Amino acid sequence: MQDRFGRTIEYLRLSVTDRCNLRCQYCMPASGIEKHGHDHVLRNEDCIQIVRTMAALGIKKVRLTGGEPLVRRGLASMIAGIKAIEGIMEVTLTTNGLLLEDQIEDLKAAGLSRINVSIDSLNPETYQRLTRGGDLSAVMRGIEKAHSVGIQPIKINVVLIKGENDHEVDDFLRAFDPSVEVRFIELMPIGEAASWNKEKFLDLNALFSKRTDLVPALDHGHSGPCRYYRHVETGRYVGVINSISEHFCHTCNRLRITSDGMLKTCLHDTSEINLKPYLSDVVALEKIIIEAINAKPEAHHLNQVDSNPIVRNMYTIGG
Ligand code: SAM
Ligand code: SF4
Repeated sequence: MQDRFGRTIEYLRLSVTDRCNLRCQYCMPASGIEKHGHDHVLRNEDCIQIVRTMAALGIKKVRLTGGEPLVRRGLASMIAGIKAIEGIMEVTLTTNGLLLEDQIEDLKAAGLSRINVSIDSLNPETYQRLTRGGDLSAVMRGIEKAHSVGIQPIKINVVLIKGENDHEVDDFLRAFDPSVEVRFIELMPIGEAASWNKEKFLDLNALFSKRTDLVPALDHGHSGPCRYYRHVETGRYVGVINSISEHFCHTCNRLRITSDGMLKTCLHDTSEINLKPYLSDVVALEKIIIEAINAKPEAHHLNQVDSNPIVRNMYTIGG
C-alpha cells in the first residue's frame, strides 16, 4: 500500500516483548522495566493476526525486536506462524545476541532469514558497563554459531556514543568474518538518552565522510536509512545510519508495533494507535491500519532545536 506521499509501505518492525536481559544505559533504566501482567503484551496469535492483515495490505518483511526478543517464550512458533503468511518474504530479528547460541538453530528451522546483533563495544569491560552487566563472550559465541548454521548476512549494530566507544570504530571494522556487515548508528535522543548531554551525540556523516578507507557501495542495500560503504582493507560492507543528522523520511517504508500493541507509523512521532480493541474484527483492524498509513507523517523534526524528545523508551518500541 502507498501512503499519501507515495511511499510504498512494506516493512513492519514488531516488538514482541518489553522485557530484556540487559539494561543498556541509553535504552533502559538501571532499575529495569515496570512489571506488567502477561495480557499487557500481544499474544502470538494476535501478532500473527496483525501481520496477516498487514500482509494483505502489502507488508512483505517483518523484523522481530523488543526488549530482547529471545527472552520471549514461543518465539520459534511465532516465526513459523508469520513466515507461513502469504506475502511475507522475510522474517528477521534484532537481538542483543546473549541467548543466540542456544536458540539460533531452532529459529532458523522455524524460518528466520537473517539477524542483526547489537554490540556497542568489543572491550568486555566497556560492554559490561554500557549494558550494565552483559557478557560479551556469550554474544560472540552466538554470532559464531549463527555463522556456522548459515545465517547470512549477519549484521552488527553499533550505536556510537562520544567518549564511550567512538574510538572503537577500527576495531569493529576488523573484528568479524568479512561477510559480517557492521552498521554504525547515531545515538537518538529517545527514552533514557532523551535527557543525555548533547555532547554524547555524534554526527556520523561528519565522522565517516572523512575516511578514505571506506568507499561508497552504491550497489548494496538500497532500502532503508542505511548508507553502505566497502571497507578497503577487509572488503566488508559497512553501514552508516545517521537518521538524526540527515533523515531518510522520504524513503521510509516502515510501520512499528510496540510490545503493548500500539501501531506507530513514525518512530519519532508521539501518535500511536491501540490495535488491541480491533483484534477480534479483521475488517475493523484493516480499516484502522489503512487510516494510520494514510496519516503517516511526512518527516520527523528531531534535528530541530525546539523539537520534543520521544519519552517512550526504545525497549517498548524496538528501535
Ligand atoms: N534488544 C535488542 C537489541 O538490543 O538489539 C532489540 C531491541 S533494541 C531497542 C533495538 C536497537 O535499538 C538496538 O540496536 C539498540 O542499540 C537501539 N537503540 C536503543 N536505544 C537507542 C537510542 N537511544 N539511540 C539509538 N539506538 C538505540
Ligand atoms: Fe535490551 Fe536491546 Fe534495550 Fe539493550 S538496547 S536494554 S539489549 S532492549
